[in-house]
Amino acid sequence: MSAQIISGRDIAAEIRSELTARTVALPDEHGVVPGLATVLVGDDPASHMYVGMKNKAAGKMGIHSRQITLPADTSEAELLGLVAGLNADPQIHGILVQLPLPDHIDEGGVIEAIDPSKDVDGFHPISVGRLATDSGVFFPPCTPAGVIEMLVRSGHDPAGKLVVVVGRSNIVGRPLASLLIRKAPGGNATVTVCHSWTPDLGAVTRSAEILVVAIGRPEMITADMVQPGAVVIDVGSHRIDDPGSEKGYRLCGDVLFDEVKEVAGALSPSPGGVGPMTINTLIMQSVESAEQAGRSD
Ligand code: NDP
Repeated sequence: MSAQIISGRDIAAEIRSELTARTVALPDEHGVVPGLATVLVGDDPASHMYVGMKNKAAGKMGIHSRQITLPADTSEAELLGLVAGLNADPQIHGILVQLPLPDHIDEGGVIEAIDPSKDVDGFHPISVGRLATDSGVFFPPCTPAGVIEMLVRSGHDPAGKLVVVVGRSNIVGRPLASLLIRKAPGGNATVTVCHSWTPDLGAVTRSAEILVVAIGRPEMITADMVQPGAVVIDVGSHRIDDPGSEKGYRLCGDVLFDEVKEVAGALSPSPGGVGPMTINTLIMQSVESAEQAGRSD
């Protein structure tokens, strides 16, 4: 039997219409228009593409988006000065500094310079610490938060479930594990985290009621690694050579989709899964930040 397809694209569209309603209400209710500043340093084409997508999505939902593009030789002091200005700017509620930064700039120092209340990307050490200790007000990193939203909205609340996360990166696996064990909606799961030192990966992934894969290896998770009926979320995102196709390449995830969909109970595709949820979460957290700023004025 073929798995239920969890479409991040459809869930993201549903969230967008809810968010647009909130954004439209904000000027009357709180006297603010949500503002998101994206800062891009250098010419990395992938970074330009990601930032462009984020600004386009923000603009569509009535968010004031300010894209600041700086040359690759921008000094660290200039960048820190810019961040300080955005921290103090009442029109800006969310700040995203696109990574990676050029080698001569200390990324950690720049992230730490962002006001945690505007850290809608969730990478400031205060945000990371609050997530890890499940305390205080913070924004989690967008990709894992998008995964949780996807699970809950598709009827697969992780509460009480055995969840296996493959990958322990700071942007996906590790914060996802922290979100899953929170005593909060979307949390309360029992979590195992796998990485490259995990012996017999298949034995562990087969134990999962919910399997979230963020390995960064195209189509590595095969049907024999999945428990029949399990829910599988594929975070992976790749462009691989495909001489048989018109373009000479195709897009895929970390999961061998055609095979796993015959075993899993539910499965998210890639593309069209976690990607759209990541961008949505950034916008959602910018709106939340504006609402918080409006309430505290
Ligand atoms: P990283 O490369 O930072 O982390 C990969 C993780 O997988 C590491 O923890 C690594 O273990 C583990 N791993 C690698 N090989 C194996 C293996 N053979 N067995 C078990 N574990 C293994 O990747 P990211 O977390 O940054 O990204 C993962 C994927 O998600 C990528 O495809 C990326 O493109 C995609 N992605 C998609 C996003 C979206 O919005 N759609 C956003 C972010 C990422 P170890 O720590 O031991 O090295």
